[in-house]
Amino acid sequence: MKKLGEHAIVIGAGIGGLLAARVLSDFYTNVTVLERDAFPTDDSSRKGVPQGRHTHGLLARGSAIFEEFFPGYNYDVVAQSGGLIGDVANDVIWIGRNVRLANGTSDLSGLLASRPVLEGHLRRRLLELPNVHAIEDCAVRAIATGPDRKSVTGVRTFAKGKPEEIIDADLVVDATGRGSSSAAWLDDLGSPPPAEEKVEIGIGYTTRTYRRRPTDLDGKHGIVVAGSAPNWRNGVMLAQENETWIVSAGGYLGDDAPDNDAGFLTYLATLPTMEIHDVVARAEPLTDYRRYRHVSSLRRRYERLARFPENYLVFGDAICSFNPVYGQGMTVAAEEALTLHQCLRAGSIDLARRFFGAAAKIVDIPWDIAVGNDLRHPDVKGARPPTMRFINWYIGKLHLAATRDSTLATAFLKVVNLMMPPSSLFSPAIVGRVWHGNRRPVPIHSIACNRRNEAQ
Ligand SMILES: Cc1cc2nc3c(=O)[nH]c(=O)nc-3n(C[C@H](O)[C@H](O)[C@H](O)COP(=O)(O)OP(=O)(O)OC[C@H]3O[C@@H](n4cnc5c(N)ncnc54)[C@H](O)[C@@H]3O)c2cc1C
Repeated sequence: MKKLGEHAIVIGAGIGGLLAARVLSDFYTNVTVLERDAFPTDDSSRKGVPQGRHTHGLLARGSAIFEEFFPGYNYDVVAQSGGLIGDVANDVIWIGRNVRLANGTSDLSGLLASRPVLEGHLRRRLLELPNVHAIEDCAVRAIATGPDRKSVTGVRTFAKGKPEEIIDADLVVDATGRGSSSAAWLDDLGSPPPAEEKVEIGIGYTTRTYRRRPTDLDGKHGIVVAGSAPNWRNGVMLAQENETWIVSAGGYLGDDAPDNDAGFLTYLATLPTMEIHDVVARAEPLTDYRRYRHVSSLRRRYERLARFPENYLVFGDAICSFNPVYGQGMTVAAEEALTLHQCLRAGSIDLARRFFGAAAKIVDIPWDIAVGNDLRHPDVKGARPPTMRFINWYIGKLHLAATRDSTLATAFLKVVNLMMPPSSLFSPAIVGRVWHGNRRPVPIHSIACNRRNEAQ
């Protein structure tokens, strides 16, 4: 690959930063990752990534891209740390719109392991590359610019026990996550900050880890319950390394699951299936309860800025962070990494405009999936154009038909796993199956709940 410069810096060693650094290693002689935290030696969670203590699963598309950048990655997570590779459509139970999708074998392969394990493997593989190194305990305070303030020349860092330092670079990538300071740093340069789009969802996560028994959930790797009327509560239980389950539950707009045994179980019993409740009621807890609040889905529109400094990019959650219940963030970062690679193959001229334009197209799909579904909740604020209402109605019908049609269920999960575009659900073959599937009433055993079968 043609070298584009001597030195590139990535700020932040989360999943986004690690993937970005992997891409840059093909185009810059040296790449430095700067991380404000110290790296844990035992793949435990760390302060700078508070979401790391909550349920994470890697979607099929993300798992495939991680493999592309780091061949053998998925196998290593299984062989060295006890993660699980599984058929997303067959090894996981999916409940949405209060109905259970039919399981069936597919080519959708996902990876289950805790977020610290996923990140730890990625980091070790990255740092094996001879031209990449990381500086821990090193917080970036600002970006450094040339006298014209139009191009970024490096970063100002603050490392423990050291005076402020400037590190020069030909390219700087901000992968500092949702709390990114890029807007403020741009403001300091006299550049306008990006417009922000926000959808307030107030999703609370209450999470605990339990010992997993082989007979739990009939040997399935997990269950995902997506919130629907009447109570809109979500629940997820995924197998992880060391024969454990990680269980998270929570609702919209402050309807959090309690963090005590009686309250948590009572909350789980209000989901449209008792399966998570029944496992948790018998399982040995291995951690305390942990809580996390995700106030809003947040998208920063860098692609719409007329002016942006040269030699600078923003990446991953710093561009867009979604409602986490859809499990998209790491996969979107992986897709952005592929796109960054393509953009760099075409050179560094006009890089920001090309990358932000392409990244926006990537983000459009998961954003529409997440926000479109969240806006089914009557109290989530946002515009609900007729197309969105139609799509939500159609997806409800698809769910009903997919309770006994695993081909339909897999087609839906391919979209959820970002392997296929949403338009694939409107092909004549799929529409025909949805129509046929709705001609007969759904048998009672495929309705997940004994509460209400509301496909809306
Ligand atoms: C509760 C929850 C559950 C989720 N579940 C899933 C899931 O199941 N599947 C999925 O794909 N995604 C999930 N996500 C999203 C996923 O965590 C992120 O989208 C993904 O990890 C990409 O994040 P990132 O690397 O861009 O940012 P982050 O993970 O936030 O990493 C940013 C890094 O930058 C560092 N940093 C910040 N500021 C500075 C600074 N000034 N100097 C140096 N370093 C700095 C931080 O310490 C951190 O290491 C979930 C998110 C949440 C909140």
